[in-house]
Amino acid sequence: MPLTLTPGTLLRERTTLRLGGPALVEAVVSCAAGLDQLAGLLPGLGGRPLALGAGSNLLASDGPHALVLVRAANTSAPQLLPQPDGTTLVRAGAGLRLPRLLGLAQRLGLTGLEGLTGVPGSLGGSVAMNAGSYGLELGSVLSRVRIWTPQGGLMWREAEDCAFGYRSFAPNLGPDAAQDFWLIWEVELALNADAPAAIRERMEAVYARKKASQPVTAKSAGCVFKNPQGASAGKLLDEAGMRGKRLGGMCFSPVHANFLVNMDKGTSAQALELLDLGRMAVRRRFGVDLETEVVVLQ
Ligand SMILES: Cc1cc2nc3c(=O)[nH]c(=O)nc-3n(C[C@H](O)[C@H](O)[C@H](O)COP(=O)(O)OP(=O)(O)OC[C@H]3O[C@@H](n4cnc5c(N)ncnc54)[C@H](O)[C@@H]3O)c2cc1C
Repeated sequence: MPLTLTPGTLLRERTTLRLGGPALVEAVVSCAAGLDQLAGLLPGLGGRPLALGAGSNLLASDGPHALVLVRAANTSAPQLLPQPDGTTLVRAGAGLRLPRLLGLAQRLGLTGLEGLTGVPGSLGGSVAMNAGSYGLELGSVLSRVRIWTPQGGLMWREAEDCAFGYRSFAPNLGPDAAQDFWLIWEVELALNADAPAAIRERMEAVYARKKASQPVTAKSAGCVFKNPQGASAGKLLDEAGMRGKRLGGMCFSPVHANFLVNMDKGTSAQALELLDLGRMAVRRRFGVDLETEVVVLQ
């Protein structure tokens, strides 16, 4: 099916924090023909379109949400395009999960993504967030990206034509710039060759480091606040007394204070209140305003 529409999809079933009420409708698109169909249907669906990946960076309230969740389900194996300079362009659908892509790259002897080991997002969502860890940002290996807008259809944009920031990405849409909805549909990454065993070793080292310092298997959305210039949000929260702070079923992880964790049937209201408490505690103690990294859907 090129396009599937499901009314009333619960965000708690689509997010790693397992929080959030119903959206108006979820549109799952598996091929370009589905995008064409969606372009015709969107105006009649009645809600604001929102791109949804693996939901690993979303905190949604109980809603209801007047949203049309648009999810790219183009998950087939990536195409490999060897280049004269020795790099390989890896072209993959936005719906592909990052852990699967990293596993494939490792087996194929393609290096450049190891720092993102343990990031559970989709490829599209990870480009949209310019996901990064341990010195690597996905934008640094991006060659080009294929964007879809309901009015303009599909278009390739070179990495040079996109703006990358700390957990932010903005494509230059040219004449379509006024459009407020765009979806990353395909991504091309430029990776280098290396021995699969060496790549695996680096991935294992990254995972071991994360496992020692982050609640990697808990229901979370990763770090909820961005690191302020020159400081660590986790350290500030910790020193402001928020590590392990619990409210109902939600808490700031005892393992890493910048991870908000759904311990046991936590609610969105508790999560949002804890975010406020954390922000206030850090402002009071250090005079620093923390900015959320997690995308909040109120
Ligand atoms: C255990 C854990 C560890 C994590 N570690 C890290 C880390 O080390 N580094 C890091 O950066 N992040 C980390 N994260 C956060 C998260 O995994 C990343 O931000 C991830 O890249 C988000 O991808 P997603 O597909 O889940 O996006 P979603 O959560 O679905 O969406 C996030 C944002 O991207 C937009 N979006 C999603 N898909 C598309 C698309 N196809 N086109 C356009 N916009 C889109 C959404 O509208 C939303 O604004 C972690 C999360 C968890 C749960």
